[in-house]
Amino acid sequence: MQIDDVTSYERSIAKYLRQDRLPHIWCAGCGIGPVLNCFLRAIDRAELNPDLVSVVSGIGCSGRVAGYVKLDSFHTTHGRAIPFATGLKLANPQLKTVVFSGDGDLVAIGGNHLIHAARRNIDMTVICINNFNYGMTGGQVGPTAPLDVRTATTPYGNFEAPFNLPWLLHASGASYIARWTVLHLHQLESTIVEALRRPGFSFIEVISPCPAVYGRMNKEPEGLDSLRNYIKRSVIKHGAGPRETAIDHKGPIVVGKFLDIDQPTLQDHLIGVAAKAKKPVKK
Ligand code: SF4
Repeated sequence: MQIDDVTSYERSIAKYLRQDRLPHIWCAGCGIGPVLNCFLRAIDRAELNPDLVSVVSGIGCSGRVAGYVKLDSFHTTHGRAIPFATGLKLANPQLKTVVFSGDGDLVAIGGNHLIHAARRNIDMTVICINNFNYGMTGGQVGPTAPLDVRTATTPYGNFEAPFNLPWLLHASGASYIARWTVLHLHQLESTIVEALRRPGFSFIEVISPCPAVYGRMNKEPEGLDSLRNYIKRSVIKHGAGPRETAIDHKGPIVVGKFLDIDQPTLQDHLIGVAAKAKKPVKK
């Protein structure tokens, strides 16, 4: 894409992209690009100082985001995006740290980091692109893949129960939990703005097409096939309880903002401990 071909608003968003890295590597119809677009618009709308925003990704197709954003960004090792982001936040509490990665990276290989970051209520925003598989490495089954779906490693259908991410994050202690599909781009953008502006651990799951691999094996070989599927199956239900947000092969996909609570962050606790010890802590 030539930057001259886009509208003035898109041009203003393009300042957040490393244009020398384009074109991107994502397949036609992939959902990651639209989510990145929402994220960049959200940074603009939230009026964050770009010098104080850092983006951390793990490995996988979604992990490539860190290489395309013109912000301080880190493309880290598999499953370790959250520990890197935690270190950044603790070293410089003024930073707005965003982890942008996929379901395999965040929930399988990095699953332990995810739940402990939520438990600690570290001030960061995690955007999880959930396409139910490891797209980059050929479509192995992911930890969120519904029962019965076909993947490269489950050719006769998935037989392992999937994680229900909103429930997992709720139980772990996150402050803010939302889910949208790439069909709901306006809602997603507003949700990211809200998450970026609030303190505490915020988790946004985005159900996203992977037409080249997962879709091809599950009768959605084009990105549009997945969007049609989302139109049929999405149900907006703000405040839905965690038990209502499980995703199976063919049933409803409940989307919306599920949780938004204020609670002390890790930094708040550290400040309290330092006050008792009479040692200053960076704010
Ligand atoms: S393999 Fe799947 S997730 Fe990766 S870029 Fe292609 S469509 Fe997107």
